[in-house]
Amino acid sequence: MALIVQKYGGTSVGSTDRIKNVARRVAHHHRRGHQLVVVVSAMSGETNRLLELAREISANPYPRELDVIAATGEQVTIGLLAIALQELGLKARSYTGAQVRILTDNAHTKARILEIDEANMRRDLDNGVIVIVAGFQGVDAAGNITTLGRGGSDTSGVALAAALKADECQIYTDVDGVYTTDPRIVPEARRLATITFEEMLEMASLGSKVLQIRSVEFAGKYRVKLRVLSSFDEPESTASGTLITFEEDDSMEQAIISGIAFNRDEAKISVMGVPDKPGIAYAILGPVAAANLDVDMIVQNIGESGHTDFSFTVNRSEYQKALDVLALERGHGFAAREIIGDNRICKVSVVGIGMRSHTGIASKMFKALAEEGINMQMISTSEIKISIVIDEKYLELAVRVLHRAFELENEPG
Ligand code: ADP
Ligand code: ASP
Ligand code: MG
Repeated sequence: MALIVQKYGGTSVGSTDRIKNVARRVAHHHRRGHQLVVVVSAMSGETNRLLELAREISANPYPRELDVIAATGEQVTIGLLAIALQELGLKARSYTGAQVRILTDNAHTKARILEIDEANMRRDLDNGVIVIVAGFQGVDAAGNITTLGRGGSDTSGVALAAALKADECQIYTDVDGVYTTDPRIVPEARRLATITFEEMLEMASLGSKVLQIRSVEFAGKYRVKLRVLSSFDEPESTASGTLITFEEDDSMEQAIISGIAFNRDEAKISVMGVPDKPGIAYAILGPVAAANLDVDMIVQNIGESGHTDFSFTVNRSEYQKALDVLALERGHGFAAREIIGDNRICKVSVVGIGMRSHTGIASKMFKALAEEGINMQMISTSEIKISIVIDEKYLELAVRVLHRAFELENEPG
């Protein structure tokens, strides 16, 4: 007998028929003697719809109230799934985040999980009850409802698996695993039977939304056995999806590049003609950080006649805020000839642990892009990834071209 946590995303619970389907799969695993905790998202589109209602009333709603509203999406699906399981003659019980007591900090709309009380769930599991938990939500110490950031049900699933020391956490979604890149962009993308934890962490942080980054971080910290699977396969399916591994497998032919990630939610700001002297980066980025805005890539040009240009990227949703902060600082904290912004850029990254032991990856990447006339505006590298910033209109072309250049559609070896 194993303890399994299963998480079902929005599309997988997008209609009552699909919820019945989920119930059939859960029932199948239950019949085989496993204990089950099932985490569900809101029905697809529902979280957007709920947040939109708030925006129809206010351009700047309080985050606390946004969480009160957004959390209702998941409350509907836990109830529906519990009923579907009861219809199949099984014992099931639904829990909101607060009812489990998934304790979070009070950072509304992007809260972090601090602690999970497993007592209620354990009692149910020991009595043969299937536990159903609302994803994406928790409660802070003062009893306020919180949410974990978009895509946060993945994190609920993995965190519950960690707390319960589950044998496996299964993320059921609308694709049958993690692919070399988003199969919606590149139909030839190939499913990976395994991907290393480090690569998955990079892919998620660089924009692959198949797993929320925090869920991957949790899996790493608590060594949760994590698998991505399709909810559209038959309930009895033995498909194995993609397993996130913690050891590099020497026996297997290892690809140099495992995947390509991209992120559209980027914007670039360039501060032109600033004095080329110590402290200038701090003078510009200090106030940006103080305003709680995340800076991603940073590039400083070679100085010329005592002046230089300084560029960085931020999340597109924080673009205007960052421009406002700089406009306020300019003339006080630093002098600049001009501040220009571009919120029609995107980031494309190639990821692979094989980069550690192979050279020439960057030149291959740059050659492929040059042949298509795609101009790179910024470049950044780490041990296992190379990221570039390009005009948003080239995103799909760049991803396809790189996928082909690194022959990702073929099995390595
Ligand atoms: P869910 O609602 O189940 O959480 P998401 O929409 O959040 O599902 O994530 C699944 C989607 O992630 C897929 O439909 C796919 O378009 C996208 N995706 C992006 N990159 C990848 C990748 N490398 N492999 C698989 N899917 C990916
Ligand atoms: N329903 C939430 C969202 O749409 C959480 C999730 O689906 O993971 O972001
Ligand atoms: Mg998701």
